[in-house]
Order: sequence, then C-alpha cells, then structure tokens
Amino acid sequence: MLSRMMKDVTPNVAALLESALSGKEISEQEAERLLCVEGADFHALTWAADQARREDVGEDVSYVVCRNLNFTNICYVGCSFCGFARHKHQADAYVHPIETILEKCADGVARGATEICIQGGIHPKKTHDDYRNLILQIKEAFPQLHLHAFSPEEIDWGHRKSDMELTDYLRWLVDAGVSSLPGTAAEILDDEIRQILSPRKLKTARWVEIIEAAHSIGLPTTSTLMYGHIESPKHIAAHMGLLRDIQKRTGGFTEFVPLGYIHEMNELYNVLGSRPGPSLYEDVRIISVARLFMRPHIKNIQISWVKMGHKVGQLALGAGANDFGGTLMEESISRESGSKFGENTSPEDFRRLIREIGRVPVERNTLYGTVQRFDDPALDPPSQESAESSGSETDLALHMVS
Ligand code: SF4
Repeated sequence: MLSRMMKDVTPNVAALLESALSGKEISEQEAERLLCVEGADFHALTWAADQARREDVGEDVSYVVCRNLNFTNICYVGCSFCGFARHKHQADAYVHPIETILEKCADGVARGATEICIQGGIHPKKTHDDYRNLILQIKEAFPQLHLHAFSPEEIDWGHRKSDMELTDYLRWLVDAGVSSLPGTAAEILDDEIRQILSPRKLKTARWVEIIEAAHSIGLPTTSTLMYGHIESPKHIAAHMGLLRDIQKRTGGFTEFVPLGYIHEMNELYNVLGSRPGPSLYEDVRIISVARLFMRPHIKNIQISWVKMGHKVGQLALGAGANDFGGTLMEESISRESGSKFGENTSPEDFRRLIREIGRVPVERNTLYGTVQRFDDPALDPPSQESAESSGSETDLALHMVS
C-alpha cells in the first residue's frame, strides 16, 4: 500500500521531501510548492513531516497550563479580521479594574496555571506606565507566575508613548515582570496584505524591529502566522522565510504557531469578501510544511485547538506538530470572530487527547521546560471533557491570535 502511494508521488515532490528529511534546508519556492500538494503528494508530505517531528523532538506532545487575560477590549486600530475590539461607547466594552484582573489570576493559579497570557485592545488612553503598572501589580500578588505579555502592537503603542529607546523600554517591562512576548500581530508579514487586513497596524519592518529587540535582550517570543483569508501560498512561504531568518540571527523564538483565520463575524469576510478560512487540508498541510521548513531552527510547531478544534488538532499532531498549546481557561478573541471550539481544554483532556494518538503527554512551562511527564497512562486522572470545551462548543480573535 505504502509503495503504491509512493509510486504515485510526483517525482519532484518525493525528491524534495527526501532532501528535507536528509536535513537539507528547503527554500521558500520549495515551501510554496509543498503548500499546494494534493492527493498522494499530500499524504507523502504529512508522512515526511511526522517522520521529521519524530527525529527532531520524539514522541512527546507538550501543553502548557495557562490562563488568558484580556484586560480591555477597547481598541481603535480597526483590523478588518477582528471580532474582539469595541469602541468605548458600546455596551459590552470593558476595561477590567485591577481587582477583576487579580481575581482572574487567582482563578488561574487555583487551576494550576504556570503562565498568564496578557493582551488587550489598543486603548487610546493607555500609556507605557499603565502597561508596566499592570505587570507590577500582578507580579506582586503572584510572583511565581510567568507573565507572557503584550503583543508587538501593544509594545509599539507603549514604546511610542514612553520616550525611551526600544531596548530600554523592553528592559523596563522585563524588570517589572514580563518574561516573554506573544509573537502575535504578525498576521502575514507582507505590507500589501497588511494594508488590506489592517491599514493602521504596525508594518512588517516595525514588527521585526520589536521582535529582534526583544531577542537581543534575551526576551523570548513566540512566532505566529494567520492563514486562510486573502493570502496566497507565496505570502505564507515568504512569511515563514522571514521568521526562519530571524531565528537564525537571534534564536529567540520558542515556537511557531500557524493560526487559521476565523471568518464568521468580521468585516474582512462579510464586507471585503475574504475566503471563509482554511480547509482541513490547508490546516494539516501548513503544519507539515512548517515542520520541514523550520527544521532545525524552530523545533516546536504548535497547533491551535481554538482554531482547528481537538480532532483536526490531533490529525495535525500526526503530521508534524509536537505541541497542543495552552489550556487558556478563558478565550474571547477567536470566539468573538466565530470560533466554536470553546474556551478551555483541561489538562486531563489534553492528556486523553494525546494518549488517543499514541503519544506521551508532557506538561511544559512557557519556555518549553518540562513541568511533568505522564509516561504511565495508569496514573492519569479520569478525563472530564469540560462543558465549555469541545463538547458543548460554547459559542465563543485579533492581534493576539494572529
Ligand atoms: S486585532 Fe488587536 S489591534 Fe486589531 S482591532 Fe483587534 S484588538 Fe485592535
């Protein structure tokens, strides 16, 4: 059967996959070719990426116990793909008081969180001091928590108000308690595409400047991509090439997270006529191409269960990914653009989902250190698919998720 499939694989695709498996770097043009494969070529791609994953990181599938904290949804940047932002006069606009923020952190700690992921809208009245004070107050109450905070868009906003050098501003936040940055607000790092997605958002060069400044002071970041809207495979390949080049220079990315675009409740689809998000094949194919393209520079390829759901996520974990992402506990970004995959995946559910695909669950911290391995299935606590998880698919996106 396998030999029959391999017989059907297009010779240049087979040669490309063999080359990637031998450790040779694949080019952006080659990645673009792989982003379009179908049929037997698609199956060969996923097989090769799974093989590469096995060689690069073994059988572990990691997850992090974390809590999202969106401190305000007031934002005037106006990204066309965002269903989260509100104007201040809208009935459901909010700025959480510090008491609410600390309650949410306490809830995260009580549920085992090691990380709080802090992002918000670009509130026009928030200053650099507001960002820092938020971090100081959380860190004072919960010194043990890793604060994964502020997208490059938020860093840009705070920095422009601060009158400091960029690296000084970042160090000032690190001194307050920021330990890593989400590499969000990336979408597609191509200014023509960005002009359509969000004309008022930071440009590609500024995103790169902020990320490289963070890495230069030892502040790690994640890296992301939003696909399935108006981009082409060429844009995706170039975006991944830019990220790979940064990683070669700095080594500061902890992971790469492709994020499928959620289309239902935003202007980009409903007014501007974007595609209605990625197909299942695109979801899986991009993970496979990412594994082969990023090796050996970025080892951790993360799936987004909020975007894909658990089942497609399991499939993608068998096609090159090695990380299931975080528990989140509260998720309003994707939900408010139309995602129906819930707000929370419990650690017990992560372990069950990982065991179902024959892999080993490992709770990690934000920087991919091992918190606990779960080698023995007999010791797993009983699984309780939470009501707000994929089961009931509570009707539940932005610079944070893209
Ligand atoms: S994606 Fe972020 S910056 Fe853009 S409108 Fe939404 S909250 Fe604002």
